[in-house]
Order: sequence, then structure tokens, then C-alpha cells
Amino acid sequence: MDLAAPAHSQQLDFNDTKTAFAPLSDNALRKKYLIFASINNNLLTRAGTTLLKSAFRLRLPIKGVVKHTVFEQFCGGETIKESEQTIQKLAEYNIKTILDYSVEGEKTEQAFDATTEETLRTIAKAKNSPHLPVCVFKVTGIAPFDLLEKIQRGDALNPQEEAAFERVRERVERICKATADAGVRVFIDGEETWIQNTIDALAYEMMLKFNQQRAVVYNTYQLYRRDGLKLLQDAMHMATMHNIHLGAKLVRGAYMEKERARAEEMNYPDPINPGKQATDDLYNQALKYCMDNKQRIALCSGSHNEYSNQLLTILMQKHGLKRTDDRVYFAQLYGMSDNLSFTLAAAGYNVVKYVPYGPVEKVMPYLFRRAQENTSVAGQSSREFSLIQTEMKRRGIKLV
Ligand SMILES: Cc1cc2nc3c(=O)[nH]c(=O)nc-3n(C[C@H](O)[C@H](O)[C@H](O)COP(=O)(O)OP(=O)(O)OC[C@H]3O[C@@H](n4cnc5c(N)ncnc54)[C@H](O)[C@@H]3O)c2cc1C
Repeated sequence: MDLAAPAHSQQLDFNDTKTAFAPLSDNALRKKYLIFASINNNLLTRAGTTLLKSAFRLRLPIKGVVKHTVFEQFCGGETIKESEQTIQKLAEYNIKTILDYSVEGEKTEQAFDATTEETLRTIAKAKNSPHLPVCVFKVTGIAPFDLLEKIQRGDALNPQEEAAFERVRERVERICKATADAGVRVFIDGEETWIQNTIDALAYEMMLKFNQQRAVVYNTYQLYRRDGLKLLQDAMHMATMHNIHLGAKLVRGAYMEKERARAEEMNYPDPINPGKQATDDLYNQALKYCMDNKQRIALCSGSHNEYSNQLLTILMQKHGLKRTDDRVYFAQLYGMSDNLSFTLAAAGYNVVKYVPYGPVEKVMPYLFRRAQENTSVAGQSSREFSLIQTEMKRRGIKLV
């Protein structure tokens, strides 16, 4: 197959479980089945989450069990070195890796500096590897949440806060500069609406510095927000005014419940679209908008939604883009939606997987979120679970 050929109109088959689970031995598939069967069960997930939180608090020796089950399913390892095997395995199937240091909830300056250094190590690794075209960080991993919120509120900062924010800016700039020098890209993850304006401002400041020749810095646009598309359009206008490239990572958005609860509690209009369909429509419009402005926008679609992934392949074809055009990346999370990632990669598209890593205890909040997402109510998870069952049937593996 000529992988550099323009995308063709034939739809991809995202039910092709043979391709999706190709790297998994029968035993590995059985293990995946058991893990997803457990987290697909709401009651078990709720009870398991509570038990695990207590067990880690009480320092019970459960790390080994977690590491060889749910951690292994969704993470590359505890360190960059430990994640090497995952990077290589994905690369065998034409899938690239985004090393995502997934330690959350840190609050000290020391921890922010340590996370910055770790992110810089992912960039150094990417510089020397063809399998790591993108790096990533969360601003809340290197900045105090309260400070970001205070700035967004427009409150005056005291001298200590001014100095703390200057350190944040320096950390962000070090990361973006190292990314530019390494010849790769960096995604700045999207977070809660009440700190996102501060994150956006930092992202645009960095784009002005580093996106002159190509899209080095990508900001995230959450299309579950009613104003999601407008924010993208405003960014495009800013980029045009300054004649720079706009890096745009599109996602639907991960904090819906939290956003709605806060809006209700504090009595301001819900910032989230009125329903799932409205979010889907806005996401797909945003994909079209990026493709219509492909001369300036470099896009990454971070989604597990089949329709949106299919739509992007069709849009690429309509716009005459090659599948390997580096203005378009498809991204999914490690351990999820392999039916999309492996099928797109096998067809020659640019596919990257977020591969979280970090010490087991510190990655737990990330794992709890994945487990919640994969319970049967979330739709997507039962889809994941049923795909595993389909593949087991296809291989003639007896269901447990
Ligand atoms: C590679 C990658 C990177 C990501 N990075 C980020 C990030 O930086 N920031 C971030 O916030 N999230 C991020 N996410 C998570 C993402 O925002 C979604 O939560 C997740 O991917 C599920 O959406 P989906 O597009 O995969 O598809 P689907 O499963 O089809 O959509 C589910 C999503 O639709 C929206 N939705 C569901 N119900 C409703 C409703 N009733 N009303 C309105 N909207 C609704 C929610 O956003 C929900 O998460 C990332 C995801 C991926 C794959």
C-alpha cells in the first residue's frame, strides 16, 4: 500500500477486531477481558475505587497487584525507561507515542519544578526518537491551581504571587523552547473553564514565540463548551493577525460533571452544551473548520468517537491531503479504542497514543478516571468490552 497516497473515500472498518487486537496474545486478550469485565461493572468499580483509595492511604502492599492489572492496561510504566517496551510495541504497528507524565494534584513549588524537569526529559527522549513526535503537559502540573484561578478572576496579585506566576511562565517557556529546539510538538492540555483563560493566555504567548515557522505549541479546544468553536475561531484570527501557525488539539472535554456542578452551585449559566448531540455537532464543525483553514492550522483530533474519526479521514480526502500530512494527527489514550488507533495506523494515517506513566500511587487519580469512563453507563466502555468479546469469539477463546 502507498501510505503517502491521498486518503481514499472508502470508509475504514472500525469493527475489525483482528487488526485492533493484533499485538495481543490469547493470554493477554484474556487478561484484558477480565480487567474490562471488572471495570465495566459499575458496582465493582465504585467499590474497587473506594477500597484502593483506602488501601493506598493505609500503605497496604497492593502496588504489585495494581501494577500488573489496571496500571499495566492504561500506562506505559513508572518511568520513561519502563515505558520503552510500550513505545516499541506501538511503533511496530505504525503508532507513535506521547509520553504523558500523569502525576496529578501536586501543590508545592518543588513538585512543579520536578514535573517540569520530567517533562523536559520526555522532550529530550522525543528529540532522539522517530516514535515520539509530540510531547504534552498540563499547566496545573507545573502551577498552583488557585493562582491560575485568581489571575482569571482578575484579582490583584501580591508580590509573592507575582513571583510565583513568573516562575510558572518560565517553566512553560522552558518546555516550549526545548520542544522547538528538539524539532517536535507540544500539546498543552485543556482543563477547567475557571482556569482555562489563564492557560489560553500562556499558550498564545508561547505560540507567538515558537509558532512562527511551524506549529510547535498546540492549545486544546474543548468542544463540550458552548463557546468551544468560537474560542478556536478567535485563536485562528489571532494567528492570522500575527502571521503564525495555530496548533489545535480538539477534544470533547473531560470535566463535564464538575463544570455543571460548579455552575449550579455558584449560580452562573452552564458552560457545557445542552446535550451530547450538541457537543458532537460542535466537535465535527470544529474538525471542518480546521480543515478549511489548513493553511494555518495544524490539527490533532483527540477522540474515541468513531464518527468523528471517520469524518476526519473523509475531510482529509476532500481537501486532497495525504494520510501522512503532518498537519493532521489522530490521538487516542493508551489502552482504549485500539479499534480506531490500529485501524487508522494500518491505513497509514498519523496516529499517536497518550501513554501515561509515573509512580503507581501518583497515577491513581488518572486510573480512577479511566475506570469511571469505562463503566457500562459511559457507552464507550461497553463498546470497548464488546469488541474484546468479539475478538475472543473470533479467535475461539472460551469466554470466562
Ligand atoms: C488523546 C486525547 C487527549 C485528551 N486531552 C484532553 C484534554 O486536554 N482536556 C480534556 O478536557 N479532555 C481531554 N481528553 C478527553 C476528552 O475530552 C473526552 O472526555 C473523551 O475523549 C471522550 O470523548 P470522545 O470524543 O472520545 O467521544 P465520546 O465518547 O463520543 O464523547 C463523550 C464526551 O461527550 C461529551 N458529552 C457527553 N454527554 C454529554 C452531554 N449530556 N452534554 C454535553 N456533552 C456531553 C463529554 O465531553 C464526554 O466526555 C482527551 C482525550 C483523548 C483521546
